[in-house]
Amino acid sequence: MQKNLTNSTRPPFASLVRELPSVVPFVPPEALERQSGKKIQIRIGANESTFGISPLAQKAMAEAVTEIHWYGDSECYDLRSELARIHQIRMDEIVIGSGIDELLGLIVRAFLEPGDRVVSSLGGYPTFNYHVAGFGAKLETVPYQNFMNDLDALAAKAVETGARMVYLANPDNPTGTFHSARALEKFMDKLPKDCLLLLDEAYIEFAPAAETLPLDLENPRIIRTRTFSKVYGMAGARIGYALAEQEIIRAIDKIRNHFGVNRVAQAGAIASLQDTEFLRHVVQAVAEGRKEYEQLAKKLGFTAIPSHTNFVAIDVGCDQKAAAIREALFEKGIFIRVPQVAPLNRCLRVTVGTPEERRIFAQALEEVVSE
Ligand SMILES: *Cc1c(COP(=O)(O)O)cnc(C)c1O
Repeated sequence: MQKNLTNSTRPPFASLVRELPSVVPFVPPEALERQSGKKIQIRIGANESTFGISPLAQKAMAEAVTEIHWYGDSECYDLRSELARIHQIRMDEIVIGSGIDELLGLIVRAFLEPGDRVVSSLGGYPTFNYHVAGFGAKLETVPYQNFMNDLDALAAKAVETGARMVYLANPDNPTGTFHSARALEKFMDKLPKDCLLLLDEAYIEFAPAAETLPLDLENPRIIRTRTFSKVYGMAGARIGYALAEQEIIRAIDKIRNHFGVNRVAQAGAIASLQDTEFLRHVVQAVAEGRKEYEQLAKKLGFTAIPSHTNFVAIDVGCDQKAAAIREALFEKGIFIRVPQVAPLNRCLRVTVGTPEERRIFAQALEEVVSE
């Protein structure tokens, strides 16, 4: 039989995919380097930790590399038991994924039918929106209010649209703002009874512990996601987890990629959890850096939005100005981001760098602004 490739036609794409625009949630800094031909010197645009990983994690990961010819434990047993111990919850209330980003997709897939409504803030975390589109659900948004997620408006929109899910990042990305447990409890009371709250707590370790929402995994209307990418500095290892009532975890277990979390990442995560001294050190170092950014913003006549994360959004007053500053900083080898959606696009979102990186950033920003 003769193959005739020129006559063959491509099988049709699924209709959902055919209609999706070709967008990615974030262009990676590596692609920005390739496009521009410029090398990034200071990488403070993706909220990756500039404080590295725990020495204990480093050691555990180096050891685990020698066993990388094995698949990771698909049950992530040791990591889940460590998390269960720390959070004083049960192992079957935890699922591990290759970062929150993967888990967001699984949660959307587990709960939403095509056409179902989902509510989030306009300009909120774009990777969530990407998964919503990718599974055929429909995103409804409400604007931020003073750079805070507007909880009343989010709840009202959920009621109005009969939403099945509300996504809330708390502390928030890209603004850095935070709602206390009291505010969240009031918010949850206002949500429709069949509406799930997906509470993304990627930055929870940076928030004041006394004000964070306690874990109540009996409540089947809330899922919380957490990560080793931010405070623990393991973004490249791709590992995070979700906490929820056990039926929800069982449902996610039906659809997850069971060998998707490698053993180096698992070993690093376990060791990170044991290094409480390192955690304290990073939280403290980041708080100092945030203060510096606030003072810098003030000195230049800008407003730093109060942040409970490892980055600060600096409102420079106008979107063209923000874009021009970002561009000029990139020319100097400094990578920061500017959120895409108005009015957040008036802000420079800058990850807290090391003291040395902050010094260089501050000097560059002052130069750029004075030009
Ligand atoms: C960084 C970030 C994530 C991504 O977490 P991974 O575990 O690295 O996938 C998710 N949500 C928010 C709000 C983030 O800022």
